[in-house]
Amino acid sequence: MNVVNPSQFVPVPPSPPLMRDSRVVNAMSVDVEEHFQVHALSSVVSREDWDSRPSRVEYSTHRVLDLFAKADVKATFFTLGWVAQQHHGLVKRIVAEGHELGSHGYEHVRVHTQTREQFDADVRRTKSILEDISGVPVNGYRAATFSISRDNLWALEVLAEAGHTYSSSINPIRHDLYGMPEAPRFPFRPEQNASLVEIPISTVRFGKRNIPCGGGGFFRLLPYTWSSWAISRVNDTDLQPSIFYFHPWEIDADQPRESGLSIKSRLRHYANLGRMENRLSKVLNEFEWDRMDRVFASAISV
Ligand SMILES: [Zn+2]
Repeated sequence: MNVVNPSQFVPVPPSPPLMRDSRVVNAMSVDVEEHFQVHALSSVVSREDWDSRPSRVEYSTHRVLDLFAKADVKATFFTLGWVAQQHHGLVKRIVAEGHELGSHGYEHVRVHTQTREQFDADVRRTKSILEDISGVPVNGYRAATFSISRDNLWALEVLAEAGHTYSSSINPIRHDLYGMPEAPRFPFRPEQNASLVEIPISTVRFGKRNIPCGGGGFFRLLPYTWSSWAISRVNDTDLQPSIFYFHPWEIDADQPRESGLSIKSRLRHYANLGRMENRLSKVLNEFEWDRMDRVFASAISV
């Protein structure tokens, strides 16, 4: 594979979506990382500070697993290798309860800050850590902060070479930290016959713009009715499953607050944390959900 340009992208031909009780089954995903490993906090928490910060990820991810168990929802957990190494029991519970284990890279380094060699080593190391601990193959990958875009499409080749069959790392929106608005909104191969499929985070189309509706900070900051309407629109108008993502720290309203953050970063990270669990319960119950590898099985296997 030699992907250098989005003009090489080949959309996966749409197939009838997976249905359950006459409803489209959407893909639920969780990016498993500590509250302090987020890019929005990187100006005040450096890599060297991680070991001195209290760990919250085990507690908050168990809460997420409890919520999913209550709603009878299976999901994909894109997990950092760094977190998995310290919390084997958590990885084992994810797999034992029927969820898919995916890779979120080793320690949340954005792909566009790595050389091809560094990225290759990171991807392979994380995949083998997760597989050794869980005993199951890890096929999916999500880049930290959706950091695969026009300038580093080689990353998709590296993922394929390392044995990943799909990636969900491109966000087809305009955003100050990430995004590739010209990318397809629905699953595509980076080039003809590529062994890997990229599955972008969900958006709705307004005029010439893609508006995010796949969870994350947007889900916390905008009214619930927006997300509910947009997920339905992707299902009913685009006839495609939606992909939703969030982080365990987003339901952890008691996490320690970092000082010295800009207003924007504070808003992005802390706004509406206390409302998140209720909202999540709502979205889990209003729609049908399943793991990424099952929702997109036909796209991945073709
Ligand atoms: Zn992340």
